[in-house]
Amino acid sequence: MAQVIVDVSAYPVDRPFDYKVPEELQELVEVGCRVKVPFGKRNVLGFITALQSESDVPKDKLKSIAELLDIEPILTNEMLELAKWMTDHTLCYEIDALQVMLPSALRAKYEKTILLKVDPTYLPEELQQLFGNKTAIPYKKVESANLLRVLKSCMKNGYVEQKTVVKQQGNVKEVRKVKISSNYERLQEISESIPPRAKKQRQVVEWMALHVGEEFTPNEICETVSVTPQVVNAVIEKGAATYFQEEVYRDPFSKEVKGSIPLALTDEQEVALKEILHSVKSPQATTYLLHGITGSGKTEVYLQVIQEAINRGQEAIVLVPEISLTPQMTERFRARFGDLVAVMHSGLSKGEKYDEWRKIGRGEVKVAVGARSAVFAPFTNLGLIILDEEHESTYKQEDTPRYHARDIAIWRSEYHHCPVILGSATPSLESFARAKKNVYTLLTLEKRAKQQSLPKVEVVDMREELHNGNRSMFSGALMEAIEDRLKKKEQMVLFLNRRGFSSFVLCRDCGTVVQCKNCDISMTYHRSSEKLKCHYCGYEEHVPTECPECHSEHIRFFGTGTQKIEAEIYKLFPEARVLRMDVDTTRQKGAHEKILEDFGNLKADILLGTQMIAKGLDFPKITLVGVLSADTSLNLPDFRAAERTFQLLTQVSGRAGRHDLPGEVIVQTYSPEHYAVQLSKEQQYAPFYDQEMMMRHQFAYPPYYFVALIQVTHEDVLMAAEYAGKAMDFLKLKLSSQVGLIGPTPASISRVQNRYRYQCLIKYKKEPNLTETLKQLIRIYRTDWIKKGIQLTVDLDPSVI
Ligand code: ADP
Ligand code: ZN
Ligand code: ZN
Repeated sequence: MAQVIVDVSAYPVDRPFDYKVPEELQELVEVGCRVKVPFGKRNVLGFITALQSESDVPKDKLKSIAELLDIEPILTNEMLELAKWMTDHTLCYEIDALQVMLPSALRAKYEKTILLKVDPTYLPEELQQLFGNKTAIPYKKVESANLLRVLKSCMKNGYVEQKTVVKQQGNVKEVRKVKISSNYERLQEISESIPPRAKKQRQVVEWMALHVGEEFTPNEICETVSVTPQVVNAVIEKGAATYFQEEVYRDPFSKEVKGSIPLALTDEQEVALKEILHSVKSPQATTYLLHGITGSGKTEVYLQVIQEAINRGQEAIVLVPEISLTPQMTERFRARFGDLVAVMHSGLSKGEKYDEWRKIGRGEVKVAVGARSAVFAPFTNLGLIILDEEHESTYKQEDTPRYHARDIAIWRSEYHHCPVILGSATPSLESFARAKKNVYTLLTLEKRAKQQSLPKVEVVDMREELHNGNRSMFSGALMEAIEDRLKKKEQMVLFLNRRGFSSFVLCRDCGTVVQCKNCDISMTYHRSSEKLKCHYCGYEEHVPTECPECHSEHIRFFGTGTQKIEAEIYKLFPEARVLRMDVDTTRQKGAHEKILEDFGNLKADILLGTQMIAKGLDFPKITLVGVLSADTSLNLPDFRAAERTFQLLTQVSGRAGRHDLPGEVIVQTYSPEHYAVQLSKEQQYAPFYDQEMMMRHQFAYPPYYFVALIQVTHEDVLMAAEYAGKAMDFLKLKLSSQVGLIGPTPASISRVQNRYRYQCLIKYKKEPNLTETLKQLIRIYRTDWIKKGIQLTVDLDPSVI
């Protein structure tokens, strides 16, 4: 009897179902294999999560597994355990947790499975026959259970492998290869039959006789024996060898990288490395918070810890916030570890993703570098997990399963008894608070690795610019600096903060942003109703026609696009060469890399872009960073707005003066006095942390309190409001009075794809009853509300509220 988690997307179910294992599959089914099973009137796909002898379902009611899709399990025990944990901790369906760990090619909707002959020497007679002279056959061809059993034992010994053929997407490479006959006598015969005048052909066959059973590309043979392809072709036609097609791994790396060797560490790096190596050498699940200012050499520390893990036969996962934005980071890992590096990110094709996943699973690579989902890389002997820029919100998945990569990393580190390194110049408040409580071990790098001084940061008050009659997006100081760099032929980065674009109202005279009178949060402009709303408490008001503070009429929505700025640069500096990097210019695969490469090759003076240029850039010629509008992220209706602004400004400033030339940063803002702006000037994390923690305490936000967010959506606004209300009533009934319940209120984006969204916020410190209550609420929703078209989601760790 097998327990199967089925994939029925239209009507998800939250428990496994029991299925009979038919006689012929008895010895073949394994936990972790995919199966096809009858469900209702059709066959669906599923994963075997347990095998047992008993079932609560009466024997005659039990249906049978229709088809076994894998001979080798594709899910490890670790993944199955992790999925259970995720189901409980993110309140998702188990099927969703399982699916998120697999490359899309293997997610229940399966592609064709084939069997590969890996080591023919030991293949039993019946398999030799089955394969014939082919190296791969469709799995479906194996019909008898007996044969399957033989196959299975050969797979366990590594003589045969299972592989999924992913529908090719563009850049697949199939190479034609030559397999030399393994029959030595036959080769001798052919050689003797070749007339003496065909000397070259004879040479080839004689060479082949020394390489019986081996595989080469035609080119390799031509070069080794110094003959033309025609000659090789002729001997192949005589039967000395056969052609076959081999699929080679699609290489997701577009270009070669130069190698790099370990650097002699600074004292600070040395201390950090030693401490971390401790947990690698006597394996233990310690979480380190590596807090190092930008340019302090965190990456070099990662590289050297990874080296130790590799030396010990272990593997490492390196997570980066969004890998397609940080090709430089991937390159640094490839420069050190070469072909041992696999890469996993959203920019890869389905086929490439599967190939990388398979390389990891087979232990052919030792390091996986990737975005969020790479935390599930199927290594079996993990020695280390790294989250670089651990504060980034991209580590949190905003779709079900709503997991945070940090939590998964820590779970896996406990499973494998290996350390986790959380690295950042601006750690999340949650992580730093944990480090202060010694839940994490804090390691600090205070100096830049190459002794460069931090860039000089100037904060420009844009209100004064306006008073002085400058209405452009560029302050006088920034214009002067740009002119100067153009003259010196140095490079610049201009950064436009587009988070919160156009959604708040700001007075251009005094810098006031309209805020809710009940909460410490900016009001959000709702285009549909022409009103300002606080989506924390629901308070709303009309868009003011004058500033509530200074009564100026210069009050308006804030935001400007990169295109407009580009045009303005050309107007002001006709000789400037500008590269623009934003969602529009980076839609195509490889576009990021191209832009950065061009900039690196000095094909432009100015790199203009949105947050995607804030991270990871490391170019020696950048001596000026201009932040056009620091305020946009500051005024997001989000309790983390100040934190995100501080992080962003620190990040961007870190792009300047990383090498020999000193750097300068100009930050334009309407709130120059804000502590997030002021303290980012000298990367003063500690005082920022203290001040921000006071705010969090005062308004009862994380890390002092946990928050959970419930969102209810419906096509009809009244239905959405009504059921959000019902959810709230249920929570009020079940949860203790210690818990803060806020809402229901319209979500900040109140309608998405024609569905209205309402939300309830739960703030709590300790509420043992919470998970159970939320599970009950979800059950009510799944059995009843869902039929009425309601959608309800629960997020236990929302990154934006
Ligand atoms: P971070 O990741 O902390 O921002 P990086 O690892 O990118 O810092 O290091 C910044 C620069 O300093 C890089 O160019 C790197 O090659 C260099 N670097 C790092 N460690 C050393 C070292 N020990 N000696 C010399 N240069 C170093
Ligand atoms: Zn004003
Ligand atoms: Zn409010």
